[in-house]
Amino acid sequence: MQSYNITKRTLMGPGPSDVHPRILSALSKPTIGHLDPQFITMMDEIKSMLQYAFQTKNSLTMAVSAPGSAGMETCFVNLIEPGDKVVVCINGVFGNRMKENVERYGGECIVINDTWGEVVNPQKVEDTLKQHSDAKILAFVHAETSTGAQSDAKTLCEIARKYDCLTIVDAVTSLAGSPLKLDEWGIDAIYSGTQKCLSCVPGLSPISLSDKAVECIKNRKTKVVSWFLDLSLVMAYWGDGNANASAPRSYHHTAPINALYGLHEALVLLKEEGLENAWKRHWENHLLLKNQLEEMGMEFVVKEGDRLPQLNSVWIPQGKDDGAIRKRLLNEYNIEIGAGLADFAGKVWRIGLMGYASHPTNVLLVTSALKNM
Ligand SMILES: *Cc1c(COP(=O)(O)O)cnc(C)c1O
Repeated sequence: MQSYNITKRTLMGPGPSDVHPRILSALSKPTIGHLDPQFITMMDEIKSMLQYAFQTKNSLTMAVSAPGSAGMETCFVNLIEPGDKVVVCINGVFGNRMKENVERYGGECIVINDTWGEVVNPQKVEDTLKQHSDAKILAFVHAETSTGAQSDAKTLCEIARKYDCLTIVDAVTSLAGSPLKLDEWGIDAIYSGTQKCLSCVPGLSPISLSDKAVECIKNRKTKVVSWFLDLSLVMAYWGDGNANASAPRSYHHTAPINALYGLHEALVLLKEEGLENAWKRHWENHLLLKNQLEEMGMEFVVKEGDRLPQLNSVWIPQGKDDGAIRKRLLNEYNIEIGAGLADFAGKVWRIGLMGYASHPTNVLLVTSALKNM
């Protein structure tokens, strides 16, 4: 056996996205202890930069030590008690996973289905919440990475508030890629991932919970069924917010020290660029890609106005061999694009322009390669 060699790829799929070189070098800083004062100070800086990224003042803002799916579980397992009614909007793969979470944690799941490729329909949400006035939580995916549709989180949260419902929002793909304003929109619990528009390595899940959500957790009658994801325990390590920043931290689990160096650097990069500039860059590169693909006669799955700039799904042109073309992209050009999932398998390509990979050079690279096939 020898050291394992990796050929560099250009990652233009649904994630992971290309990792910024500054983040890769941050990962190789010396590992220190998870209770070392230097490390605690860095965790506090991560918290404050995550508050910026999410546009929130929530003191319960941190990174779960596991990928986006664990952020999802954290929100559901802490907010749901057996018998709670949760309305889940499904318009793609990730909505389905929310339903799984609700059921596994003993909640009663009310499903609203929307066609894949379409956004969550606010009227259906309003009708459902009217009918189920005892619903405790509304859960939906802001950026459906399986289809490329971007739902109107602001409107959906407004409706939820009207019916006194908490909201759980999946922002794994939207964070840092398209406008997201947690406090202004009144989101109660949100989770994201590091490997999409933050251009960091996979394995961490930034989350943030509103005071109302924290209150709901404090008033639980039953124990959170997951020990690892129980926020009341995790916060003894991450600190329970600005109010109590100097309180001593105690061991909960060994934090992924080096991955957190990476996240810190990713957030510094985001601050340097500016959140709104990052949103603008994602949008402009999407427009460039759209023009190129449409010139080639390709059509988007999602209708104009509902599209995610960071995840572009297009119908595979007739007569083109999905598997063969993606294989050639990978082998001849070192480009990875995403395949369609479930009903979209073999029918759709998902071209990601996320984070560091959202660059005009990549748009021209993938489109010229596709023109050759
Ligand atoms: C990628 C993704 C997830 C899951 O994140 P992992 O880091 O793979 O666990 C969840 N929701 C959405 C919308 C995603 O795109």
